[in-house]
Amino acid sequence: MSNLSASQSLPLEILDRSAHRRRESEWIRRQLSQSPEFIFVWKECNLFSTAQEKRPLFLEVPDAARILNPIFLGVRANGVSLFAADLSLRSTEEEALAFLTLNTDLARFVPLRQFDGMLSSEERALLFYARALAHWHDEQRFCGRCGHPTLPEEAGHVMACTNPDCGAKHFPRTDPATIMLVHSIDHCLLGRRSFWPEGIYSTLAGFVEPGERVEEAVYREVKEESGIEVKNIRYFGSQPWPFPQSLMLGFFAEAETKDIICGAELEDVRWFDLSEAKEMLRRLEGRFPQLDTIARRLIRHWVETSITFHG
Ligand SMILES: [Zn+2]
Repeated sequence: MSNLSASQSLPLEILDRSAHRRRESEWIRRQLSQSPEFIFVWKECNLFSTAQEKRPLFLEVPDAARILNPIFLGVRANGVSLFAADLSLRSTEEEALAFLTLNTDLARFVPLRQFDGMLSSEERALLFYARALAHWHDEQRFCGRCGHPTLPEEAGHVMACTNPDCGAKHFPRTDPATIMLVHSIDHCLLGRRSFWPEGIYSTLAGFVEPGERVEEAVYREVKEESGIEVKNIRYFGSQPWPFPQSLMLGFFAEAETKDIICGAELEDVRWFDLSEAKEMLRRLEGRFPQLDTIARRLIRHWVETSITFHG
């Protein structure tokens, strides 16, 4: 069913999500009949080749009608449509691979955070996108309002309640979370959670609460986790983080106070000087080697530019 050799013709171009096409069921059906490419997910793992150079697999699927609940992701620059599908109904990895006429000599389903092969930023973005939607489908199998089963609509971007008296439409969720590098003149503030590998510290982070501005969340989270008060909160950039469904919003913040009171969520939080921060960056780069996390980018930016924002 799958065409492994064609699927390895990477790199990928940026995807056109073609959101306006999702309601055009006839157009979607036509895309499915024209050997589209698929990103397969199985039990929250992504599919990678096991060749010497491990790569993500985007499989060309000539008989896509066999695939349950395909999710339309968009159209690649070469005109080929890209879909995602979750094979988690197959109870073992071997069964999921066999459905794709693959076996463990050719491919494996691997948790994305553990993948240690080659991954371009475009590939990473597409794997995140597919994983996020597959996770949401799994979470939204039942209506949150009335409890009846849901069915996908709009090429998998809506989950609709099957109870005619309810009719609720559910949309994919993304939870905004803040992640921030707090700094003083020549130190930055890093913390660690008890379940992280030994010796790993990273930026503080926390979810935005209902009714809260994101800058208020930065201030509150830093205060809760470290006792430090901050000012000059400056936006840095964002990163989808589909573990399971966050959007990380990165900030720099300047410390106004120095004395740390470690909050309940962290095992430890402390100030790092430039050389210590460089060493921690090196350790963090080994943690999720292919994901170039926004935490790393924040620390790297601070290390490289010695940003102080000191007024
Ligand atoms: Zn309902």
